[in-house]
This record gives sequence, C-alpha cells and structure tokens, in this order.
Amino acid sequence: MLAKEAGSTSGKYRTGRVEIARGPMLAATEPGVRKISAMVATQLLKTTLIENLVGFHAHLDPCPILIVQPKDSAASQFSKERIGPFIKATPKLRSLIGTSKSRAAGETIDYKAFPGGFLGIVGSGSADNLARRPIRLVLCDEVDKYQPLKEGNPLDIVEERQATFESNSLNVAVCSPTITGESKIEVRFGQSDQRRASVACPHCWHRQFLDFFKHVHWDKGSDGKTHRPETARVYCEACGTGWSEGQRQRALETIRWHQTRIFECCDERQNPLDAYGAAWAVDEANGEDPSARVWDWWSSNRHAVYRAKCRHCGTWAVPNEHAGFQASKLYSPWANDAPPKMAGKWLAAVDEDGKLTFYNTQLALTYRKNMGKALSSDALLERREMWDAEVPDGVAVITIGIDVQDYRLELEVVGWGRDEESWSIFYHVIEGELSDPEIQLELDEFLQRRWYRADGRPFAVAAACIDSGGHHTTAVYNFSKARLSRKIWAIKGESARTGQRNPLWPTKQPTSRSKKSFRPVILGVNAGKDTIRGYLGKERPGPGYMHFNVDRDLNYFAQLTSEQIEVKEQGGVKFWVWVLPAGRANEASDCRVYAYGALHGLMHRGFKLNREANKVGAEVTVIETPPATAADDPPPAEPDEEEAPMPIAGMAPPVPARKRTKPPGDQRPAPAPAEPPTAPSGAPAAKMHGRSGPKRIGRRLA
Ligand SMILES: [Zn+2]
Ligand SMILES: [Zn+2]
Repeated sequence: MLAKEAGSTSGKYRTGRVEIARGPMLAATEPGVRKISAMVATQLLKTTLIENLVGFHAHLDPCPILIVQPKDSAASQFSKERIGPFIKATPKLRSLIGTSKSRAAGETIDYKAFPGGFLGIVGSGSADNLARRPIRLVLCDEVDKYQPLKEGNPLDIVEERQATFESNSLNVAVCSPTITGESKIEVRFGQSDQRRASVACPHCWHRQFLDFFKHVHWDKGSDGKTHRPETARVYCEACGTGWSEGQRQRALETIRWHQTRIFECCDERQNPLDAYGAAWAVDEANGEDPSARVWDWWSSNRHAVYRAKCRHCGTWAVPNEHAGFQASKLYSPWANDAPPKMAGKWLAAVDEDGKLTFYNTQLALTYRKNMGKALSSDALLERREMWDAEVPDGVAVITIGIDVQDYRLELEVVGWGRDEESWSIFYHVIEGELSDPEIQLELDEFLQRRWYRADGRPFAVAAACIDSGGHHTTAVYNFSKARLSRKIWAIKGESARTGQRNPLWPTKQPTSRSKKSFRPVILGVNAGKDTIRGYLGKERPGPGYMHFNVDRDLNYFAQLTSEQIEVKEQGGVKFWVWVLPAGRANEASDCRVYAYGALHGLMHRGFKLNREANKVGAEVTVIETPPATAADDPPPAEPDEEEAPMPIAGMAPPVPARKRTKPPGDQRPAPAPAEPPTAPSGAPAAKMHGRSGPKRIGRRLA
C-alpha cells in the first residue's frame, strides 16, 4: 500500500504503476542474489523499494532489518514520514507491528519489533549504531551522502553485521549518483552485473534502452533558435516514430531488465549492449528476436531478468550475486517527469552546476564538471606521445585504411591492441592517380612493408581497406582483386540516403574473382564513426583509447574531428546523421574508419584480437579498468549544441601513458583556428582539400 501522506498516489500498491521498480524488487527473491545496488533518478523507485522490502520481510519472512540513512536526523525523519505512514496504511503490517498505543513500551522511533524480527532505522554517522546487532537485511539509503568513520566505511561496517546470516543475507544500497569518481553508488553499480531496462516501441516493438540525448528530441521555433521543450518526445531508434505520452506509458508497461556488464568468455571480451546494437537491425529485418542472441530470459514468480550469455558457448557469463540497476527519469510514469519536463530542465541547466544536477537527478549518471569541450583538436594535440619504436609494445595487429582521392592516396597505419585500444603508427600520402601503374606499385610496396617493435619483432600488415567510392573505382577493384589473398579489400561506404546504422562489417563477403560480379564490401561507416568518436572521447589508456604519434599535426586532428553529429527530420521521422561542414576535409577520419573496418573484416573471419595480443606478447597498458557504464558507449546525439557534452560517467581522471612524452613546446603548432584550419606545416597530412557543400551520411535515429 502507498500511504496517503507519503506520495503522490495512494491506495493499494500495484507494482505495475511503477513498473520500473519491479526488477529491483524481484531481485530480492532471485536465487543467488546477495547484494542489490540501485543507481537511479530521484523520486523514482528508491523509497518504494525500501518500503516494500520491509513490508515483505515483516509479513512473510521475518528477520532483523536495518535501514541506514546518512544522518540521525534523516533516520528519524524517514521513520516518521515514510515508514510510520506506510505501516499505518497497510493493515497486515499494522496488526504485526502495532501502533504506538498498543506497543508503546517496545517501540521507539528507531526500533520497531514484530514477531520473528525487528526493524531498526539508524544514521550512518555512528559505528555503534551500525554494529549493534546481527542483521539479515540491510537497506542503505542515500549512500553517496555517507561520511567515512574512523572505524571505516559505513557500508563495510554494516556488511560485517550480516556475516551471521551468511546463507540468506541481503544488502541493498540505493541512491542517485553524484560527481564522477566520488560516487559510492557508481562504484557499487560498477561492481554489479549492471542491469539496464529496455522498453518496446508501441509502433514497431523494437526493444531499446532509453537515453535522453539519443532518444528525446524537440522542435525549434520558426526562427530556428527558440527551443520548444513542450514538443519533446521519445523517438524510436528503429522506426523513428515519436511517442505520444500515452504511447510512452504503454511502452513503460513492457519494461524488462538486462544484464549489461562487459565480460570475457571463450577468449573474447563481449559487450552485451554492443552485441545487441549490432544484431537488431539485421535480426529484426529477418523477423528474429535480437535479444535471444545476447541474453536468455530467466523468470518465475520470484525473479525475472535477461541473463547475459556468451555468444560462443552460451554460458551465463555474468554472475548475478550482485544485482545492479540503473534507470533515468525516462522510465518514470509520473507526468512531472515526462519528456517535455525533462527537456525543460535540460535547457534550464545552463551552467556546470545545473548540468551536474541534471545528470545526477534526472539521468542517474555521474558527471564531472567542465568536460564538455574535451574533444577539441587542441586537447587531442596535447595527448600526442613519443614512442621508442615504430610499433608500440601494446600492439597486437596492424591494419591500414586507404582513402582514394583523384590525384592522391592517403593512408593510415593503425596498430590495434587489447579491446581495440589503438596506436596511429604512421600517416602517409602518395601523390598521383591510382590508375597509374607506378602509383599502384608504390602503394603495393608500402602495403608489404614490415613494421618493427622495439625488441625487433616484425609486423606485417594483416589487412587493409581501400575506398572504391571515388573516381578510380575500376583501378581500386583491379588492385584489390589481385590481392584478395593478402586481405586488401575494396570497400565502399554505405549510402548516405538509406539512413541506416548497419554493422561495420557486412555479413556478405566478396568471394567471386570474376570481373563482372566483383563487388566492394559495403562498409557500415556510420556505425564505425559512432564507435571511433566514442573512442576519441576516452581519456586514459585502456579499452578503445586512441594513442597518437607525436608526428600527427593540428590538421590531422581537425580532420579527425571535422564531422558533427546532427539530428535531421524528414516527414515526421528523425535521423541521426554525421555532417561534414562545408570547406572541411575528413580524409583522416575516413582512413581511421577504413582501418577499423579492416580489423573487423579480420574478426569476421575468426580473428581474435585479445588472443593475438597474448600470442605476440603485447603489453597490457592499463591494469585497472574503470567500471563500464552506459556513458562509455559512443557519444549520444545531443540535439541542440554543436559541441555536445561528452557523457563522462565511469571515466577516471586522465593518467599519463607509460612512456608518454609531450612534444617540445616550440614544435607545437599554434592553437586551432575555429574554421577552416590552415596548414601549419609542410607535412603531407596537413593538406587541406575542401569539399563543396555538406556531406551527409545518415540513418534513422539509433
Ligand atoms: Zn519503433
Ligand atoms: Zn563462452
């Protein structure tokens, strides 16, 4: 029951009303679960979860229960304003726990007895309170506000009290998160199995994990500048349809929770959300359920969760002992949290403090201030490194991406290490036309070059992608056709007009050697750009981090970051597109995406990057990995600013790479001009080749 005094609704409690709370409640009776961590938006499910767990145990499974609040004052307030009215409004609990009249002697504000157990409500500020008696069920509220005690961390102290109930204790922590790197609930969520919620689109039934920056869009006024947050809606990432508020409510009834923690199984690091992202476009077109590839639905009347499974052996590879939940206000049924209200709050969050509050209370994500501009060319320039050999020690395999222009070829040699950490080993320009046999010879020699590690180990180029979309299509076909055995693949970026996010490497391979039927590989460059941009935003060595050699100049970085993500609308359907502003060049970005495509071409044929890293003895650059969170994914489309704030939850402060050396200051080019960048040096990569008009590569919102 919800007590009248306690919330905006009253009457008999039905989980369906706050469907998002069902998962965390069921986790309390899920076999194997001993710990629950809920990192959730404010006013969403925290108090409901605590009240219902108290009610369930007092009634059906009595035991010693402890509720911990940050301070004594908060504890007595919670007791008076939430627990008291909750008991009063629930007949069964009223008869068990009694009223202050009938049980006046045994009851105080912080201690309520019932047959078979008791409920204590204490502040986290006293080790004595926390450690007084053995406790089976501990419910820690607002954990980010707990202060460390001289006896230790309050969360650890209460956990010790549960040792007596080794086989059936349950430890629950709930909170909305705070500042990145300082949030206790973020740390706990990082240690958990990281469950996130999906909903089904009422139009096309595609399941998606709602993200404010990715899924919520709104109109602008006729002047093109005024925001109209009242028009904000969730737009489906598959069919592009905007949901009415009624349709959003219907979608909320379909909530299901999925384990999303990254895991290692069968020699492969697997990311359930990435795997789902790569599978759904293909599977749903074929009428199949893409969830089935990534998760098994495991349910009874006591539990319900999508268990993550290895795509090779099917093992449930993520343990469920610690169940973690993360949910933003997009999952709230209350009118006050509807998309127009959230959009209004986002637009009102003009300064860094406002953004911190928005991320914490609305999105249930941590935030670090002043991180919005991290992707400037200047910042990337600062990150360059000096290496003591051509091939740094972290590299496992080398691929090349080749961009073909009318009178010139540009090539990037990329070394890939564990979990797609990468090193920009060399950037090369060959002047001339690819149709010229001499130029082909020069290219061929370059592709056959060996690259050397400090210990003398040679690396051959494992694969290369060469762009056939320009003016030398036939020459590219012929060149790659003669070198298929060396995995020199002719590729073509997917069409700009389809508005699709296809997997980077398609399922169909160019197999025929006959000239007539030769087809280039259609590379899913839009998805590739999403990933590369996400990797560029990573701040410290580890999975996905991009290392740059000191030879890269400002122009290289200007090209790498030239394309902007924008939301376009056509016929009421919104598309998320990469746009190249007029006068900007992007060869460096294309080369990187093609080299990344070559890596995935290898993987498609069974190549295992991490296994190769072990085989060649690649150095492990980072021992400790920060907890993965949703915000580690490629940056979402922020609809209304050119420089979208990068989501930074889960990122730790930048740590210098081993051997990282800043270039001498006097060699550093001048700071980036706004646009267009000028060539600061005679380096080949510094050449500018403007294109006329914006180049658009789009897809439906995804
Ligand atoms: Zn849809
Ligand atoms: Zn496996």
